[in-house]
Amino acid sequence: MIKKCHKQDEFVARIEGALNVRMGRVTCKIVDGDGMAEVMSKAGWSKNQARGVVGFQVDDEVYVLDSAPWTVLHELVHRAGINADRMSRWVAEGLTEAIACELKRSSDEHKATYPQEVKWVRETLLPRLGMSAVELGRRLANAPNPARVLAELMAAAKPGTDVSALEYQLRPQAGGKPSFNRTYVTRLGGSGVDRAPSEGIGWLLMVAGVLLVGPSFLRRL
Ligand SMILES: [Zn+2]
Repeated sequence: MIKKCHKQDEFVARIEGALNVRMGRVTCKIVDGDGMAEVMSKAGWSKNQARGVVGFQVDDEVYVLDSAPWTVLHELVHRAGINADRMSRWVAEGLTEAIACELKRSSDEHKATYPQEVKWVRETLLPRLGMSAVELGRRLANAPNPARVLAELMAAAKPGTDVSALEYQLRPQAGGKPSFNRTYVTRLGGSGVDRAPSEGIGWLLMVAGVLLVGPSFLRRL
């Protein structure tokens, strides 16, 4: 019998209810560091990139590091449709984190990652859209084209925005580059932390973010 991930069934039921999605049969595999490097290398990532990764979602599969059960909820939100195969990694990671924060019920269920992304989602995007993370997640998880839906929502909040240009900036990653979750890792002999990777908020997305903040912010640039 395959050991299930931490609270896997409970999380799936909670996410399905909150985002109004059907996730079907979910496979969540617990792996060690070598196992993580192996599944990631099969998906095109290097060993170096696998370092510090605690959770990984590729297509329908979810992998979680044995020492990081707290990332299961995050990975299952990706699996429900909020992921970089469907929208910009920046938005996908920030929104996934924001949704996980709203859905968590105890400290074993979540640890914060992607601080910049989640800050933008919670402090800029969601207030301007007048939505909670779960509400936006429900719209995007069920959308055939989440980038378009989000571009339209942002444009409605800020009339005059070029929806097509914004949709392009919110587009998903190219194929073969799956979502993963990286924790902060303190490197031996170094003082810094390994930053969560975000493949660039595109120039226009940054502009859109600024636009969403409003004119008073623009003047300070
Ligand atoms: Zn993630």
